[in-house]
Amino acid sequence: MMHCDALVAGAGPAGSAAAKVLADAGWKVLLANPAGKRVRKIGESLPAAGLRLLQHLKMAGAGFESVHRRISGNLSCWGSAQLDAEDFLRSPDGAGWRLDRDAFDASLRQAAFGAGVVPREAAVQSAVLEQGRWQITLDDATQVTARWLLDATGRGSRLSGIRQRESALVALCGYGEAAVPGFDRTFVEAVREGWWYGAVLPDGRAVLALYVRPEDVKSAQENWHGLLAAALHLHRFFHVPSFAKPDCTLDAGSGRLAALTGEKCITMGDAAMTFDPLSSQGVQTAIYSGMRAAQVILTGDPASYEREFTELRALYRKRLEAYYLRETRWPEAPFWKQFTSGG
Ligand SMILES: Cc1cc2nc3c(=O)[nH]c(=O)nc-3n(C[C@H](O)[C@H](O)[C@H](O)COP(=O)(O)OP(=O)(O)OC[C@H]3O[C@@H](n4cnc5c(N)ncnc54)[C@H](O)[C@@H]3O)c2cc1C
Repeated sequence: MMHCDALVAGAGPAGSAAAKVLADAGWKVLLANPAGKRVRKIGESLPAAGLRLLQHLKMAGAGFESVHRRISGNLSCWGSAQLDAEDFLRSPDGAGWRLDRDAFDASLRQAAFGAGVVPREAAVQSAVLEQGRWQITLDDATQVTARWLLDATGRGSRLSGIRQRESALVALCGYGEAAVPGFDRTFVEAVREGWWYGAVLPDGRAVLALYVRPEDVKSAQENWHGLLAAALHLHRFFHVPSFAKPDCTLDAGSGRLAALTGEKCITMGDAAMTFDPLSSQGVQTAIYSGMRAAQVILTGDPASYEREFTELRALYRKRLEAYYLRETRWPEAPFWKQFTSGG
């Protein structure tokens, strides 16, 4: 039997941030994550504010700028056939970052371990609150007792319940080559079926993802090359013939839990709420929610966490909806119709 002040389930960005903040405050923290079980990530971007947050938490790690790839701006074709450029160099916020997610997650975990967090390579299997203490069973049969249980088990989480779905979206991802040497922007192009995301990853591969409704996945897979060819601007930046059929589909729908806090437990990151990838909010919010979850536990005010994230979520949904509504070229197409008059 192991005893700790807090057990954090899930060592992604949310879990590592929460564990470090609690350990910095002198708590005995166990960070449980199954070994070798890797959740596939597409090659996400982190806005400049996300790096500032990591620096504030002393979790950015040495060599951040050499491991991850600087993003100098966005190119987007949205709302008209024109391609618009947004340059981060002129923005007061500075550059964003294309993450090497394995290296990124590993460096955040190391920062947590450096603060005294105890690692455990096992999944949380069950947790029961008995007389004010959690009795937790890990899938390596270890029994743990903890005062607090923090759930950061990501999009597939079932520990805290099932998120209420707000929108359904699937990413079809394929890898190939960029057509422009040193391409360092995020590319987004709206098309009748949904929208394309394109980027070059830190390892030099280019990724293209087509975001569609779940019911359109099969036809998009079958017609992948036709859809690539039909896009207006994509071929200028990506070497289209190098992109074989998509090699993975990822659930990218968004939703949130009805309640983020309960008795002696709190949910963070994707386990609490998932974001439309168009917003590039997921990783930064995961870190922020991990930090805030730990802070409200330390100050004894979990209700403020619930309030803060309810407000943040409302703002996010308003902005996202306004952005989707800017695209009016295909009012009859099922993908775009869902954003007008309830679809
Ligand atoms: C297609 C797609 C594109 C995206 N693009 C972006 C982007 O450009 N920018 C951005 O910011 N975000 C993006 N996101 C979102 C981003 O990936 C997530 O928001 C982020 O990874 C959430 O971090 P997390 O710590 O909450 O969860 P995760 O990083 O998923 O970590 C959860 C951890 O919990 C572990 N775990 C699971 N079950 C258990 C258990 N029972 N016990 C213990 N551990 C467990 C898992 O192994 C995993 O290590 C994208 C998402 C998708 C699907």
